Amino acid sequence: MKKLLLLLLVTALLNPASLLAEEKSFLVSQEPVTLTAFIHWGNVYVLNDDWFILDEAERLTNVKLKGTASVNDTDSTAAYNLMIAGGDLADLVSGTINNANKYGMEGAFAPLNDLIKEHAPNFAAFLDNNLEVKTGITAPDGNIYIIPFVYELLVSEAWFLRQDWLDKLDLKIPTTLDELHTVLTAFRNDDPNGNGLKDEIPVLDRGTGTGCAEGLLSLWGLNYDLYVDQEGAIQYGRYSDQYKVAIKGLSQWFSEGLIDPEIYTRGGQSREQLFSENNGGCIHDWIPSTTGFNKSMKDVVDGFYLTGFLPVADVNGDVWEVSSRQRMEGIGWSISSACKDPVTAIKYMDFWWTDTGRRLSTYGIEGDTYTLVDGQPVFTDKVLKSGTSVNDYMRSHGGQVNVIAYLHDASYENQMMADPGPEVTKMYADAGVVYTRNKNVPTLSFTEEELDVITSKLPTCVTYMDEMQTKWTFDGSTIDDTFDSYMDTLKGMGMDDVLAAYNSAYARYLDAMEKGK
Ligand code: CA
Repeated sequence: MKKLLLLLLVTALLNPASLLAEEKSFLVSQEPVTLTAFIHWGNVYVLNDDWFILDEAERLTNVKLKGTASVNDTDSTAAYNLMIAGGDLADLVSGTINNANKYGMEGAFAPLNDLIKEHAPNFAAFLDNNLEVKTGITAPDGNIYIIPFVYELLVSEAWFLRQDWLDKLDLKIPTTLDELHTVLTAFRNDDPNGNGLKDEIPVLDRGTGTGCAEGLLSLWGLNYDLYVDQEGAIQYGRYSDQYKVAIKGLSQWFSEGLIDPEIYTRGGQSREQLFSENNGGCIHDWIPSTTGFNKSMKDVVDGFYLTGFLPVADVNGDVWEVSSRQRMEGIGWSISSACKDPVTAIKYMDFWWTDTGRRLSTYGIEGDTYTLVDGQPVFTDKVLKSGTSVNDYMRSHGGQVNVIAYLHDASYENQMMADPGPEVTKMYADAGVVYTRNKNVPTLSFTEEELDVITSKLPTCVTYMDEMQTKWTFDGSTIDDTFDSYMDTLKGMGMDDVLAAYNSAYARYLDAMEKGK
């Protein structure tokens, strides 16, 4: 096999015509074709002439995309709504799965089921092997109206402790809730930063608002918000009896000084602030950015090192990770009913599901934005020293634009990560702690009625839950007396209706999964 590849490579190098033949396999059309495309994403990324990565796709496929969204619009949702209201749709339209299904069922978008089957072999093969994605994008009428962006890897956040502090206090990586409590108490009392002051903040977070306690609350068995329980029903963590156990535990630790007194308000720069002051000890956070502090703090705090560790066994003895990435972000692109050449459109969309298309989106162009090192793509200085983040650079030039749907390539993140990032990611994946105990709610397609119930009731409930969580965190003495009325209040606000709406959509999802088998 290797010999054959080598032979092909040598032949290709000696004979440019055969290289051309190789590339012709990505041709979508013999004649150059231009498709119009509404691509407006994240309020920032709008298809324009700077997107040279699409020029390379055009060279390979013979299909050019002509943007219809205005770069002057800074609100993707508003731009989308205006386009839909105007009724003048581009051939290809980026947006959310919910909107694609809603307007698709009203006739604005072409059903893609047959087009995918007949003309999109790469995406079709992916769907065959990823039934939950297929089910997640299928509209209530049974049609598919969108090609979605999909994540490859489910690991997202992990637990980290200061290894230099552990060493100094002669402590080991904890494996149980009690052991973690012991470590954090020592961080609090035994002056690991060595300045003679009791100024350490054992646990910090950089979230804003109550959601940043999600990791901590999981130590007491709580899945913070929506999840699928072990009986296969969708539940809401803060609307459950387990929440009483968890919020009491959290409040207790808070009163012992183990948690940042400003946990809900310190905000996005918490890590920069508390790590550079050598005061922060433990965090549950995203792996790539957190391990980045091992690089950035190296010359700031002597011996600074964050080591990743598996979630400790929770109050019930379960080892599980509360955070995970959804497989889908709920976005992608569709073919409008106005498109005169849907076959060319779907073929072009399918190009991004080839290995070549995926690499083009992730890394850009070989010799320009990346080079191959030991067979692996590595970004060039053009990207790394562009003055902006890799993501932003790529997205501003047509790569990693998630609405131009492709399968996310996790190798790219590993490359960006400082030690021990890749190792921690692998540790969590290998241990099977992510997405096991309580599953994330998959991408569901809702009926209009279900969506109405959810959007009219859930936000008010969440606001009330946030208020009570803040109150109880800072003073746990009233939890026993007020918990029952808290649950009653949420019931009165319609939490049961919200869960019923989720569960009816989920029942359809399970049904479709069963039929798809
Ligand atoms: Ca100290």
